[in-house]
Amino acid sequence: MLPTTNVYRAVGAVAIRAIAVVAILGVSANASALQAQAAGGVPKSTADNPKVKQALATLKTDNAWTLDQQVSICEIPAPPFKEAVRAAEFKKRLEGLGLKNVRIDSEGNVIGERPGTGKGPTVLFSAHLDTVFPEGTDVTVKREGTLMTGRGIGDDCRGLAVLLSVARALRSADVETNGTILFVGTVGEEGPGNLRGVRHLFSSPIKDSIDYFISVDGTGMGTTNAAVGSHRYRVTYKGPGGHSFGSFGMSNPIHALGRAIAKVSELQVPADPKTTFSVGIIEGGTSVNSIAFETSMDMDMRSESETALQTLDNQFQKMIREALAEERARWPNSKAALDIVVDTIGIRPAGEQPVSAPIVQVALQAAKSLGVTSPTGASSTDSNIPISLGVPAITIDGGGIGRGAHSLSETYDDGPTGWQGPQWAALIVTALAGMR
Ligand SMILES: [Zn+2]
Repeated sequence: MLPTTNVYRAVGAVAIRAIAVVAILGVSANASALQAQAAGGVPKSTADNPKVKQALATLKTDNAWTLDQQVSICEIPAPPFKEAVRAAEFKKRLEGLGLKNVRIDSEGNVIGERPGTGKGPTVLFSAHLDTVFPEGTDVTVKREGTLMTGRGIGDDCRGLAVLLSVARALRSADVETNGTILFVGTVGEEGPGNLRGVRHLFSSPIKDSIDYFISVDGTGMGTTNAAVGSHRYRVTYKGPGGHSFGSFGMSNPIHALGRAIAKVSELQVPADPKTTFSVGIIEGGTSVNSIAFETSMDMDMRSESETALQTLDNQFQKMIREALAEERARWPNSKAALDIVVDTIGIRPAGEQPVSAPIVQVALQAAKSLGVTSPTGASSTDSNIPISLGVPAITIDGGGIGRGAHSLSETYDDGPTGWQGPQWAALIVTALAGMR
């Protein structure tokens, strides 16, 4: 269940946009020039740099260090809205790796700087601190060879470990980039958090300095270049309620909900761009011989296209109000006021960014140089926010093989080549930050 602090309330037929998501914030003025510079994939100046090669070698030889970080950070609980203990430890580790001005912002994000040596693009390099697991969940990690079992071990302790290992390898090889790299642990990436950490970053002054955004989330070697948007609502029908026999003749909230679900289940959506909908939870009623006073459904709508998502949302808003009107009309003599309350659970903007985009090409070429073909795709991650604002952004996997993300039996297997994940990330961030 979602915490009520995260539910934004609006009542009646008013269209709801509790969170002003799609305010167009300024993209760094030199972004297009930087994009042009990155268009050819990984520049030779980075790929041939002996210090970069040394950093990549360190990431392979010191793979055990990366895995130790992954396990130990994962054994600190980080439930939604309660990431502070893990955040404090992550801050300490970034400081220990020599990053500058390491701080925790007012939303709870951890930010550490690796200053560039000259003029160059600023690269924000992030992973998320939060898990989906509630307080009290056992977060002990079990290790058997390369296989680890633990809640959040892949999503996103892997990403956090990638950040730490890259910071360490760049330092030990004394890698110098032109632009600054910001190492960031974000809060609130998972459902209940509704991207609150990254939203804060892109609505605070730091946004003006971000030229590229990369988040490391989960496992494998895939690249997320497009943002799946989502609109999630809780719809509640309310009335006075009464006895099923004695009060017969009044409009019934559960019947209104039934009408709404019947309508919603007939929604037509495009297959391409992939657009989906589902009623995930229904609740309500007190007993078989009562007319309920309240009932609700939680609705999830997603799309790769912001336009398709908005079209779907508009149809949905209309249907749930039609259901209300029809249930009222069914009992014209009912004195009971039947009403609707729509709570916004979460709004994540969608955004398209072609595979040909320079930042995507850098990622694909960097993978290729490690002998890996990285598949591209659409997902819902911290990158949704920068992509929707027009800031070049990707989410990359952290290497290894993950199973059962968000489940109690989540595993991460480092396999024979898990270290390629940190190597890939290191190549991308150094290529984007630029080298002389
Ligand atoms: Zn994640």
